[in-house]
Amino acid sequence: DPACSEPLAVLGRDVRVPLVTGGEVTYAALDYAASAPALQRVWDDVAAYAPYYGSVHRGAGYLSQLSTDLFENARRTVEEFLDCRDGDQVVFTRSTTDSLNLLAQAIPADCQVFVFETEHHASLLPWRDARVTYLNAPRTPQEAVRTLEHALADRDPYGPALVCVTGASNVTGELWPVRELAAAAHAHGARIVLDAAQLAPHHPVSVRELDVDWVAFSGHKLYAPFGSGVLAGRADWLQEAEPYLAGGGASKSVARRTDGGVDVEWHTTAARHEAGSPNVIGAYSIASACKALTEAGFDSLVAREQQLIARVRAGLAEVPEVKVLSLFGDDAPRVGVISFVVEGWNSSHFAAALSAEYGIGVRDGLFCAHPLVRTLLGSDPQEQGECGAPEAAPGEKSLNAIRVSFGAGTPDEHVERFVGAVK
Ligand code: PMP
Repeated sequence: DPACSEPLAVLGRDVRVPLVTGGEVTYAALDYAASAPALQRVWDDVAAYAPYYGSVHRGAGYLSQLSTDLFENARRTVEEFLDCRDGDQVVFTRSTTDSLNLLAQAIPADCQVFVFETEHHASLLPWRDARVTYLNAPRTPQEAVRTLEHALADRDPYGPALVCVTGASNVTGELWPVRELAAAAHAHGARIVLDAAQLAPHHPVSVRELDVDWVAFSGHKLYAPFGSGVLAGRADWLQEAEPYLAGGGASKSVARRTDGGVDVEWHTTAARHEAGSPNVIGAYSIASACKALTEAGFDSLVAREQQLIARVRAGLAEVPEVKVLSLFGDDAPRVGVISFVVEGWNSSHFAAALSAEYGIGVRDGLFCAHPLVRTLLGSDPQEQGECGAPEAAPGEKSLNAIRVSFGAGTPDEHVERFVGAVK
């Protein structure tokens, strides 16, 4: 019975970790933006399925058929979760990074790509074989739309174009004006892909309402940490492209030619890009998380998260040495992802102390968004800071930051412990 007491209960709430000061404490997982804990419901569903696990799309046996059904039903569940259009395809991948790389190799050869420099590297880098225009960091959502419109107005209007944008920043937690950016893209004949890695775990994502052409997200940030991700959206470019991986499952028919070569007919369904034995547990667990989130509804999740955001921000505001990083300002709508620096502290040491002395797990660094974090810190764009950043002396700029992030199942105590520890 997966409908246990709390629909969005997560695993790991009673894990004890040692403290450097002696003794132990329950672990406060405040790094949801990197990987969220598994939902109890996801774990229960996976455990219930495990004895029936079988090969997908291959076997004639009962369990193979069952696994194939579960895998294909998972696709339909994700389709519903994302409110896809008729004809959209859901491709199961390894992660958001994998999904965006898949799309990058499926775009037409003459495609122009537009991407803000503020993106996570997963959205920033896969397009490097295409003609890419990197857009400067906007300081308001309106400026983001204007910047994109200007860039698109200058483009070759006859060629294909793609805009890649994140729904919620993995650094500031701020929401981007996706619907407006999609409208601007379409008005200029471009398409748009939404990096929903940080948005989907916190907000409903409707492909139809946002009017985006593709969406990518990761299971491990959506409470389903079993190595799976999703690329969903328009079928045409995906089905005209070479398969992402060549191999069994993607190929419908392979035949030797009389000249000695091989002719391949590739599938035109999602299977075209899913060669090899698929990660059925990963897909199944994503579907389980989608169902749990849909059944629980996002309203209470969002309301609870906004309370936690307010508490963390108020707590941090009481510490004069703390500077919270923000692109769009204090009033911008945001999800539970907050990055900050502490004057006079090396962020890596600070994060290490939160772990060793308080049992709190956060992240430090440049969060795979180097240009954005360097802009927010006002540091040299070329500066190194991800690992082993030198100690920032009092009064000097930090070269990296600390990020705290949370979501379903985060208890007040974790947030209170964090605020107390920072103080
Ligand atoms: N985009 C954003 C906004 C992210 O936060 C992340 C993960 N930090 C990714 C893409 C990449 O996700 P994954 O590591 O699961 O591929």
